[in-house]
Amino acid sequence: MDTPTRVVFLFDIDGTILLAGPLAEESYRDAFFAVLGKPYSIRTVDCAGRTDPWIVREVLLRHGHVREADTAEIREAIFAHFLAGMRKRLQQGMRARLIDGVAESLGWLERQPMVSLGLLTGNLESGARIKLEAARVYTDFLAGAYGSDHHDRNMLGPLALARFEQFHACQIHPRQFWIVGDSVHDILCARAAGFRVLAVASGNTPRDVLAQEAPDILEDGLSISVFERILAHCSVAGTSIAGGWE
Ligand SMILES: [Mg+2]
Repeated sequence: MDTPTRVVFLFDIDGTILLAGPLAEESYRDAFFAVLGKPYSIRTVDCAGRTDPWIVREVLLRHGHVREADTAEIREAIFAHFLAGMRKRLQQGMRARLIDGVAESLGWLERQPMVSLGLLTGNLESGARIKLEAARVYTDFLAGAYGSDHHDRNMLGPLALARFEQFHACQIHPRQFWIVGDSVHDILCARAAGFRVLAVASGNTPRDVLAQEAPDILEDGLSISVFERILAHCSVAGTSIAGGWE
């Protein structure tokens, strides 16, 4: 029973690992223009913690495109233009900004035994890859769940769990998973799946708003020391993974 407990960290991308800024915003603006003839901004909706399918549908509804909002072909056309726009901007040298502390934390985590790294993000899977490349993040995320899997973020936790169980060819208890994210929806998504959650106030959501949702840990940003604390606790907790954090 002394087998070390595996810990899986599932990272959100926007506001947690990086800030995509114009790379994403300009690409969406051009995509809406290409498909609907209007340069809509995704800033007209609150994107924090939302999936790309949710964001696009809300932007369409916000501007009166009720029929288009529920037309799969329209949404797919917008995504195709969006991804092409991001690829083009990346090739032209546009970059995403890596958030302080992320590179060191990911580098350190990659060297830890019994730690697995993954993604749980509202981004389309292809969009996630482009943004990470734009921030020069080359971490080996083993598996993940994406906005392209489901428009409702709360559905993504069980998907990620199943993919990690398949990857490692063993059962993994939900309490061995940590979501790392910057929005209220990351916290709610973790709760929906029975995961733990490390919330970081490095995105658009203020620290006090995150605190109201009572994440297991709340930090201003990522650092090696916070992950050291988590792993030290997990090794002490050993098999009592169903217990509380503190
Ligand atoms: Mg985020």
